[in-house]
Amino acid sequence: MKKLLPTSTAGSLPKPSWLAQPETLWSPWKLHNGELAEGKKDALSLALYDQLRAGIDIVSDGEQTRQHFVTTFIEHLSGVDFEKRETVRIRNRYDASVPTVVSAVERQKPVFVEDAKFLRQLTRQPIKWALPGPMTMIDTLYDNHYKSREKLAWEFAKILNQEAKELEAAGVDIIQFDEPAFNVFFDEVNDWGIAALERAIEGLKCETAVHICYGYGIKANTDWKKTLGSEWRQYEETFPRLQSSGINIISLECHNSHVPLDLLELIRGKKVMVGAIDVATNAIETPEEVASTLRNALQFVDADKLYPSTNCGMAPLSRQVASGKLNALSAGAEIVRRELADK
Ligand SMILES: [Zn+2]
Repeated sequence: MKKLLPTSTAGSLPKPSWLAQPETLWSPWKLHNGELAEGKKDALSLALYDQLRAGIDIVSDGEQTRQHFVTTFIEHLSGVDFEKRETVRIRNRYDASVPTVVSAVERQKPVFVEDAKFLRQLTRQPIKWALPGPMTMIDTLYDNHYKSREKLAWEFAKILNQEAKELEAAGVDIIQFDEPAFNVFFDEVNDWGIAALERAIEGLKCETAVHICYGYGIKANTDWKKTLGSEWRQYEETFPRLQSSGINIISLECHNSHVPLDLLELIRGKKVMVGAIDVATNAIETPEEVASTLRNALQFVDADKLYPSTNCGMAPLSRQVASGKLNALSAGAEIVRRELADK
């Protein structure tokens, strides 16, 4: 992008209350069949409108057509039995009842491609589309077929690559892979996690991003964060390998977190989506707070590579709060843009 400090969100936005219960993860749909299909499109249009009204530069679908950022993608694949459930530990953090991989996983049909085409028709702004990353996908399943995390991740990477190529053809400018698991399984990330991600982006000409965060502001995550101490150095484990990877953009949690920003020096040269909005609080940042986070990041990220963003998705927030945070992000980026222009 030519515009300096182009803003975007990590991905999800709250859904309207007529579509799904607000402020709830995995919230069941309130509509069905044809009405649901129409309702999802309307919600996507509204999510786009909220972003445009706030002046967000790189827009998304707000993840309005999916119930959950990982589960919805997997639901569209064959080889996973959602009736057969086992309890596993997600990201070493909390137990959840998850579906079972019972046979070879395959993508029989596109998952989000029609939604992406619809969004493309609605706007000329650059669009970013989020997909779950291979490692985060395997972490939400019980594998009774491959019996190898690495093998299953590799299969998912191939499937994600098929989807990504069709999203690119639909006019998506940036394809983002969500990999919160990269902040947990460091040995695996370096052994095969980043390699699997590179398999997922193979042959793409559009830009690619990886989003690595400390999770939504839900209790299991905030409790986990309390155990991490005063300095969160998780990124230090994966940045060196990411720096040499083919991924163009790295999306990170920065505002209100305990991440020492000098770690960003380790990915110098990459574009960085700097999380300047905390998604774990209802308090709306002031534009000056956003500007301050961006100024701090500018010590370690070249101005033409800094993309102001949110720490994570805003799905669990109220629409009012999310909308206020979008405005703050936009206004904060504008403050710093003016400062850079004056230099
Ligand atoms: Zn996130």
